[in-house]
Amino acid sequence: AEDVPGRVGTRFDLEKETELRFEVEAGDGAEQVEMELLSGMGEVFGSELNRNKKYTFGPGAKIAVFTWQGCSVNLYGKPEVAYVSKDTPMLLYLNTHAALEQMRKQAEKDNERGPRVMVVGPTDVGKSTVCRLLLSYAVRVGRRPTFVELDVGQSGVSVPGTVSALCIERPADVEEGFSVQAPLVYHFGSTTPGTNIKLYNKLTSCLADVFSQRCEVNRKASVGGCIINTCGWVKGSGYQALVHCASAFEVDVVLVLDHERLYNELKRDLPHFVRVVLLPKSGGVVERSKECRRDTRDEKIREYFYGFRGITFYPFSYEVRFSDVRIYKIGAPSIPDSCLPLGMSQDDTQLKLVPVTPGRDLTYHVLSVSSAEDGEDGVRKGIVETPVCGFIVVTNVDTQAQVMKVLSPAPRPLPRHTLLIMDIRFMDMK
Ligand code: ATP
Repeated sequence: AEDVPGRVGTRFDLEKETELRFEVEAGDGAEQVEMELLSGMGEVFGSELNRNKKYTFGPGAKIAVFTWQGCSVNLYGKPEVAYVSKDTPMLLYLNTHAALEQMRKQAEKDNERGPRVMVVGPTDVGKSTVCRLLLSYAVRVGRRPTFVELDVGQSGVSVPGTVSALCIERPADVEEGFSVQAPLVYHFGSTTPGTNIKLYNKLTSCLADVFSQRCEVNRKASVGGCIINTCGWVKGSGYQALVHCASAFEVDVVLVLDHERLYNELKRDLPHFVRVVLLPKSGGVVERSKECRRDTRDEKIREYFYGFRGITFYPFSYEVRFSDVRIYKIGAPSIPDSCLPLGMSQDDTQLKLVPVTPGRDLTYHVLSVSSAEDGEDGVRKGIVETPVCGFIVVTNVDTQAQVMKVLSPAPRPLPRHTLLIMDIRFMDMK
């Protein structure tokens, strides 16, 4: 098949229950790959494809077109790899969806709540993809599930260093993923939970509380249940964080991807009524290097400020006086228990707001803008548990003039004046 002159499509004929996997070359200047469904029916991670529409995938994309009945697909451009695989766990994933849907039906009948599902496993087993699949399938049968994103390294919802929740109202877009309108986002501040596990657990509890409150007033949300994506850190405190999450959300189902020991541990440690299920990972999931992860994080921040594909944002750059803002870091460096003041615990120090004196070293840091009202009290109680309303990046600091220049999605002035500093930095190379 000939597309625009010079661009020849490569045709793939897929038998039923097989998938076409392809990767787009990574890096700047890499050529995009277009994909078109010619006949039959196919889906990408749970979202159905339209026939004769060209879908475009940018550098680094790793895609699978799965078909239940068989289909023909054309690829245009030069994918780094492209092959058809017969060996996919999609049938098991679909069965999992069917079981969850059964639980929702039962919940509807008994006036109970729908399934709360936690997806766990080491890195690169396709946790995010399984979440996307289950959410898209649920919404396709008319449910309104909630996506809870606890992966602070590779958030699918907001910038890295955050945890969030999102009500899913339509299937993920084939090219762009879920539409992220009005997510509930909390500041964590770093890309691994280990930096401040107390804070991480606290924020998990916050999200669980907000979700439960919503379920009390919204029947559809309650029946829809939630799908929780977690971090790939499954040992030590990382494991404890999973157990904490299971109890905070009172999860009913845990899906363990490709990790038998984790499966056995969770079976042992979670209450007996929690269904722990071991699922294989898909052979299509590609391992991602450290650099690749860092690039993805950078890209996520860039998207926040500059938009994505068809939608271009024009961020603003302006000066903020030090005297107009209060900058905090959450968590004081830990000190030995024996040195703690009487009546204070290690928990208190990890959740403490430590004022940050603006200096040069603030440059390039991402700051969360807390939605907390600008109160006059110096204690700023409750800020840790308050969602954020947006992010800015410090692009320059002038200690002499006592001002910093920031990159912001909205024009001056800042909507609020309490800022929380992240470990994460973003260098604007545009
Ligand atoms: P992490 O814990 O590191 O965030 P993860 O376990 O959540 O990773 P995913 O983000 O779901 O993993 O998947 C990793 C990559 O593999 C993604 O780019 C995804 O698009 C791709 N991928 C997932 N399933 C397939 C498949 N069947 N064929 C091809 N690519 C796939």
